[in-house]
Amino acid sequence: MTETLDIKITKTNHSRLAETDFNNLPFGKIFTDHMFVADYVDGEWKNFQVIPYGEIGLSPAISALHYGQSFFEGIKAYKHADGTVSVFRPDKNAKRFNKSAERLCMPTIPEDIFLQSIAAVVDIDRDWVPTQADHALYIRPFMFATDPFLGVSPSSTYKFMVLLCPVGPYFSKTLRVKIETYYTRSAEGGMGFAKSSGNYGGAMLPAKKAVEEGFDQLIWTDAKDHAYVEEMGAANVVFVLDGTVLTPSTRDTILDGVTRDTVLALAREWGYPVEERRVSVAEIIEGAKNGKLNDAFGAGTAATIAPVGSISFNGEEYFLSDPKTREFSQRVFKEMNAIKYGTTPDTHGWNYIV
Ligand code: PMP
Repeated sequence: MTETLDIKITKTNHSRLAETDFNNLPFGKIFTDHMFVADYVDGEWKNFQVIPYGEIGLSPAISALHYGQSFFEGIKAYKHADGTVSVFRPDKNAKRFNKSAERLCMPTIPEDIFLQSIAAVVDIDRDWVPTQADHALYIRPFMFATDPFLGVSPSSTYKFMVLLCPVGPYFSKTLRVKIETYYTRSAEGGMGFAKSSGNYGGAMLPAKKAVEEGFDQLIWTDAKDHAYVEEMGAANVVFVLDGTVLTPSTRDTILDGVTRDTVLALAREWGYPVEERRVSVAEIIEGAKNGKLNDAFGAGTAATIAPVGSISFNGEEYFLSDPKTREFSQRVFKEMNAIKYGTTPDTHGWNYIV
């Protein structure tokens, strides 16, 4: 039995719920009434609290600001027609949270504390979980170093927090993507498998340049030769090549995505051939040229299933089929939604009910 966490709850005396326009939810800009906070002090997690969402005071010397001892997770909660609120596979995020923590010399959090923390704040703000199609409550757990100390060494104190944002779909169109052949997101021995904040800061300039060139997203390639596909923006990338569901195998340069895992589990159940291996740029471009690239999409919690419309490589643009006609990504998108929103039985035990 897991112990019930002792969480001090302080509710807001002015809810912003009634004044929030749920028909206009820019991603990550609208926060719910409350947030979760805990402190790591003297080698243990303590002071578990749900408090009104708002600013927090911090020393300007914290190592999170100077040396990037900071990482996060991204999860979503969904509202079912009967009012049930479920969180999708947060146990996977709890495990990945701790992998990130270890990579950054930061303390881990027992999985049940992670889950109870999320449940506590989602429960209080359950009326904020949107009910419109394809909408959800985005859950952002994160941890950062708080020692006021400018030496380059691991902090001894940390904060763990959870913020919540009602959100709509992240991408609303078919994506025009390019294969990145200069910049690198992560290298062998680096921290691509961790959700460390620095990975995202370093990705902003290449992404900005891709947008300036007219692309929506870029496909990252390996740091050594730029010959193998790794991920797409802040999502994993999945292809269907000549009938086989194909995605780069996870390694220390690739984030082990929960959506990726879910897509592959469903594909295997449906009897598709599935390959997780190194995927070369050459075979993807060849498939796009000869029509054997049946499907291509980004897979992520925020991105959900984001169809790729065209792939550009070395100045050539290759167009794929109309996403509406793609058998696999359409089916996987529908099935994942049915499970998340409770319109089909959750036979995998993926929904964590709050
Ligand atoms: N890769 C990167 C770099 C990401 O930031 C994300 C989003 N968390 C993913 C892949 C997809 O992971 P998930 O399906 O767990 O959201």
